[in-house]
Amino acid sequence: MRTRKLFFLVFVLALFACSKGKNAAASSAGAASTSAASTDASNLPPDSVPAPTFNANRAMQYVKEIVSFGPRPIGSENHKKVENYILSHLKGDDVEQDSFNVHPTEGTFPVHNIIAKFPGTRNGIIVIASHYDTNWPLRNTSYIGANDGASSSALLLEIANQLRGNKLDGYSVWLLWDDAEESMKLPWDDPESLYGVRHLAQKWQDDGTLKKIKAFILEDMVGDADLNIEHDTNSTPWLEDLIFKAATRLGYQSHFFARSMAVTDDHMAFLQRGVPSADLIDFDYGYNDVFWHTTDDTVDKLSPKSLEIVGTVTLDTVHLLNQR
Ligand SMILES: [Zn+2]
Repeated sequence: MRTRKLFFLVFVLALFACSKGKNAAASSAGAASTSAASTDASNLPPDSVPAPTFNANRAMQYVKEIVSFGPRPIGSENHKKVENYILSHLKGDDVEQDSFNVHPTEGTFPVHNIIAKFPGTRNGIIVIASHYDTNWPLRNTSYIGANDGASSSALLLEIANQLRGNKLDGYSVWLLWDDAEESMKLPWDDPESLYGVRHLAQKWQDDGTLKKIKAFILEDMVGDADLNIEHDTNSTPWLEDLIFKAATRLGYQSHFFARSMAVTDDHMAFLQRGVPSADLIDFDYGYNDVFWHTTDDTVDKLSPKSLEIVGTVTLDTVHLLNQR
């Protein structure tokens, strides 16, 4: 109950995105299989298409490599290294880079959104996003963000592997590694908040891209071995329904939507502009959230199975979006 009370407080304070905890040590999911791309096809209705594939071991390796750079605040050498790391995995892909400076009270800092575009046969775009920065420079203690930043960024790298190759049979999918999420201040729409997505949403509104976006799916803190994705009441209801339908089709519904809460995160800038948006986030990370934004946010708390669950549900949601 203390955990729930804390959640309530988090709400009341309109505290932001990223995560919260659960007792990973007591988790039944914690033992998670490390097999690659192994969604149980027997869960699927007989007339349905096969489950998406997702290499969980490879995704977990990406998490470890991102974390190896250390804390990744904007403007730091480590941040530059992870930028280059992401770009090195996107060689040959159609990549848009959105770079600009922000000028908070602490000084001037570079912000760098990275977008990889995988074209489809159908007119319209599905955006899947994750922030890749960690702590705000000068304000917080340093942490390496295995779950908060690395897990979702690694998940997108593996999704890129699955999308790369032939033209997609459906909407185009754009993967967005957005930046400076951790610059947040309260409230969420403070000018010194969620810099990367706010800049990109405005840019895409100005250049006409925004109206082509059919759905914006955000991933944040998706690697917890004790995976419990929240039902986010800020997210677009029909898109949440579609995500749950995908989770159910794959037999993973027990990891989704046991609790409802309003999450403020990188999807808000798109929601506010009328883009159907959803946040896949496990806001409960370590008992009483002790791993969140601390040096305890380390790889040993994560499971490749959790990455596989969220990765395949995301890809199956894309499939369902293409059927609408
Ligand atoms: Zn965070």
